[in-house]
Amino acid sequence: MNKLEQCAQCGSDKIQRFENQTRKIPFRTATKVKWFELSGLSYEKCLDCGEEYLSPEDIAIENQKLNEVLQKERMKKGLLTASEIKEIRKELGYSQDELDKLLGFGARSFARWETYRADQSRAADLLLRALKRGGKKLLKEIISEQKAEKKDAA
Ligand SMILES: [Zn+2]
Repeated sequence: MNKLEQCAQCGSDKIQRFENQTRKIPFRTATKVKWFELSGLSYEKCLDCGEEYLSPEDIAIENQKLNEVLQKERMKKGLLTASEIKEIRKELGYSQDELDKLLGFGARSFARWETYRADQSRAADLLLRALKRGGKKLLKEIISEQKAEKKDAA
């Protein structure tokens, strides 16, 4: 790991690397900012002005640890994890936006569920689990059901 030579903010060369630290990290959901205490984080800090610097590797580790706690939180609620939802969607063969529309969810629903920006409702979770088992065949049935309803309403 090559250490930063000079602070980009104040020009100081007093840059210190901190390894394996425990820190509170903010995560912005669709509605609020949540804070998580994560350990095993590394960063560099300018001792003169306090500016912090994270290498791409430091950022990747922070993101991975954040993802782990968000995943645990989702599982504790008994809901599908982000990667499980993504897997189900990929198996069905649609983009996030396409599936939002096809299933009648609000815009950006899948995008938020797959990044922990929002939790899916229990009803959505049940539907996704059903789609995991029923696959494309069930999705087709749901879509044709919606079309029939629209026709009836017209
Ligand atoms: Zn500085």
